[in-house]
Amino acid sequence: RLYNEVIELKGNIRVFCRCRPLNQAEVEKGCNNVAEFDSCQENELHVLAADSSKKPFKFDHVFRPDDNQEAVFAETKPIVTSVLDGYNVCIFAYGQTGTGKTFTMEGTPEHRGVNYRTLEELFRVSEERMGFMKYELFVSMLEVYNEKLRDLLVVNPSEISKRLEIKQAADGTQEVPGLVESHVSSTEEVWKILQSGNCIRSVGSTSANEQSSRSHCLLRVTVKGESLIDGQKTKSHLWLVDLAGSERVGKIEVEGERLKESQFINKSLSALGDVISALASKSSHIPYRNSKLTHMLQNSLGEDCKTLMFVQISPSSADLGETLCSLNFATRVR
Ligand code: ADP
Ligand code: MG
Repeated sequence: RLYNEVIELKGNIRVFCRCRPLNQAEVEKGCNNVAEFDSCQENELHVLAADSSKKPFKFDHVFRPDDNQEAVFAETKPIVTSVLDGYNVCIFAYGQTGTGKTFTMEGTPEHRGVNYRTLEELFRVSEERMGFMKYELFVSMLEVYNEKLRDLLVVNPSEISKRLEIKQAADGTQEVPGLVESHVSSTEEVWKILQSGNCIRSVGSTSANEQSSRSHCLLRVTVKGESLIDGQKTKSHLWLVDLAGSERVGKIEVEGERLKESQFINKSLSALGDVISALASKSSHIPYRNSKLTHMLQNSLGEDCKTLMFVQISPSSADLGETLCSLNFATRVR
C-alpha cells in the first residue's frame, strides 16, 4: 500500500476544481475574469458574482489556469495507482462544454491528459513491483448516449451499433457481457487504442464535437494482479470518465432529439451526484439504479472505492451562471 496511507486520512471521495484560461475569443469579446485565486490557499477560489459579491468555494485542490497537465497528474497519481493495490477507482470530469473535461482526461498529443499518464504510471509501477507482483492490464472503452451503451473498441465495423447491457454476475457484481477488453502492455498500444475508440465515437454523428458533448465517454482499465509471494489474486477496475456537458439548454432552442438528449443527460448527472453525496454522507441506501452510468459503475463507486471528481470551470463572465451551477453541484457531492 505504497500511496494509500495519505489517502486514507483524507477519505475516499475527493473533488478537484480546474479552471481553464480565458481564451482568445473571450478576450476579444471583452469578457471579464470572474475566478480569483488566493496565492497561499491551494484549495480555495472566489467567484465574482453578478452583484459583485465574492462567492467562496473550497475543494480538495483547486487548479488554476496556469497549472499544467503535469501539475494535475501529480495530484491525481496517488488515487489512480491505488488500482494496483486492489482498489476500484472512478475519476470523473464534470462541467459545462468547453471548460476542459476532454483536455483534462484525454489531453492533446502535446499535452497528454490523465488517461494516458495513468496508463504510463501503471506500467511503470508494475515494472517496479515485478519482483513480488505480476500484473496484467486490459482496456475497454464505451459510450453512454441517451441511456444506451456502445462499445468503442469493436474490431468489426458492423458491430458498432451492437447494444450492450448491464448484467448482474453470480457474485453480485455488475458486468457488461461482450464488452471488448484489449490486453495492453505498452503506452504505444494504449495510445493507438484510445485513437481508434475516438474514431468509432464520431461515426454516425453529424458533428463529432456536438455528439461528444452529449454523451459520457468511459475508459475502463482492468488490473489483474497476482502476488508472487502467496499467489493471492486480485482484480480491480479503474474508470476514467469524460462526462457529457452539464450545461442547461435554453427552453426555446430545445425540441425533438435535443430535448430527449438533455433529459437523459440531466437525469444521469443528477443520479451521479445523488450516488456520490449518498456515499459521502454514509447513507444506508445508495441509489445506483437511477441511471445506466451509476448502475454500471456500482462496484467501483462505493465505500471501499476511491472517487475523484474534477469540476471544470470557465473563468469568463459570460459563463458565470453555469460556473456557479457546477461549483454548487461539486460542493453538494462533497
Ligand atoms: P470540454 O471537453 O469540457 O468540452 P475541451 O477539453 O474540449 O472542453 O476544452 C475546450 C478548449 O479549451 C480546447 O481547445 C482545449 O484545448 C482548451 N483548454 C481546456 N482546458 C485548458 C487548459 N487548462 N489549458 C489550456 N487550454 C485548455
Ligand atoms: Mg469534451
